[in-house]
Amino acid sequence: CVPTVCTGAGLRSNDEFFDRSTAVIPGGVNSSIRAFRSVGGRPYIVARADGARVYDVEGTEYLDLVQSYGAVILGHAHPAITAAVTAAVADGTSYGAPTPREMKLAEAISSRVPSCEQVRFMNSGTEATSTAVRLARGYTGRDRVVIFHGNFHGATDALLAAGGSGVATLGLPGTAGVPDGAVAETMVVPYNEVPTLDESVACVIVEAVAANMGVVAPDPAFLAGLRAECDRVGAVLVFDEVITGFRLGTDGAQGAYGVTPDLTTYGKVIGGGLPVGAVGGRRELMETLSPLGPVFHAGTLSGNPLATAAGLAALDHLDDGTYDELRRRARRLADGLTAACAAAGFAAQFPVVGTLVGMVCGDVDTPTDFESAKRTDEAAYGRFFHAMLDQGVAMAPGAYEAIFVGLAHDDSVIDAITERAHAAAAAAV
Ligand code: PLP
Repeated sequence: CVPTVCTGAGLRSNDEFFDRSTAVIPGGVNSSIRAFRSVGGRPYIVARADGARVYDVEGTEYLDLVQSYGAVILGHAHPAITAAVTAAVADGTSYGAPTPREMKLAEAISSRVPSCEQVRFMNSGTEATSTAVRLARGYTGRDRVVIFHGNFHGATDALLAAGGSGVATLGLPGTAGVPDGAVAETMVVPYNEVPTLDESVACVIVEAVAANMGVVAPDPAFLAGLRAECDRVGAVLVFDEVITGFRLGTDGAQGAYGVTPDLTTYGKVIGGGLPVGAVGGRRELMETLSPLGPVFHAGTLSGNPLATAAGLAALDHLDDGTYDELRRRARRLADGLTAACAAAGFAAQFPVVGTLVGMVCGDVDTPTDFESAKRTDEAAYGRFFHAMLDQGVAMAPGAYEAIFVGLAHDDSVIDAITERAHAAAAAAV
């Protein structure tokens, strides 16, 4: 069944779509990693998706471990999300005025995450982290921001810094287009080491569980150490829970590790697969935002009725029981993939942190920071990625992305994936 969006274009193959896209979209993609740059080859073009499966424009089915990089935790086209969005769309798609659904979604988050007394919505994780940094700077009257090597916070200029050599370095722009000035106050330090701060620091922003350098667990003392160090100098502690929020558990990484940040950034799961971002925190801090306080924030589509409808439907389906089940599935998948690779003699490990699974290729130690994460064999990942794709399993086209298990990955799907992984690992060895 080929959707009309494909037939209407008069094209049939992935290559035809990709070629035509590259004429009008830089690189043919709207998010760089989708381009297969690091694994080689050309992307499949998705026509539709359902549960744990995506289908490309040629009708090829893939068991999907990308799941929109973690946004669709219920699985693709979940009936509850479809119903919620369908009901919402009939009432209009955006008004430029407050709505009941944004209030309900803020309540849903606030009632589940004690540190989020108040929540402000926006449209992406990137907007959430940039707002959190501005808020922290405005609140403290300080400029310096501390980030960690190997963490990713979206395309926020101040956070796109690459540390130079040295243990704790002031950032240099991590990409063209970011002026030196934008990262001049950004300090990049090693993950899993508590930096010594001073009174110039506005905030420390951290992926409490790192999920953009593979999946790397925080050392037991790391997050508590950050909390203590921020308290010592009066800096704001920001947990970037764009991935871990409502994925690791009801109260995310902060609940799992028992450390309370001042601010939390969200995206992905809380939008049920629609564009969303949010910053949450305690009332007194959040009220530094305009219109009550001096820190400006606004957005034409912020708190969008469709996104908040989808987010409410998603959170409705997630409770402690579902997270227990997701943890079991993550472990089952990791064990299956580990066994498949071992049987084929393909060196790989699949670290599990709660409901998140990572993949590290090559004979290396389990990563604890970016230095060790970078020892993964990227070429081997590329071979495994393509071999899995040939077997009809879609993973992220990048060696540092997480493997996303959701409620659509029942045991039959997980077992089918691991069975295919046997053949893929043998081909990739
Ligand atoms: N923060 C983290 C931890 C992320 O993983 C991402 C995106 O993957 C972002 C922020 C940026 O979110 P978005 O892509 O919605 O802008």
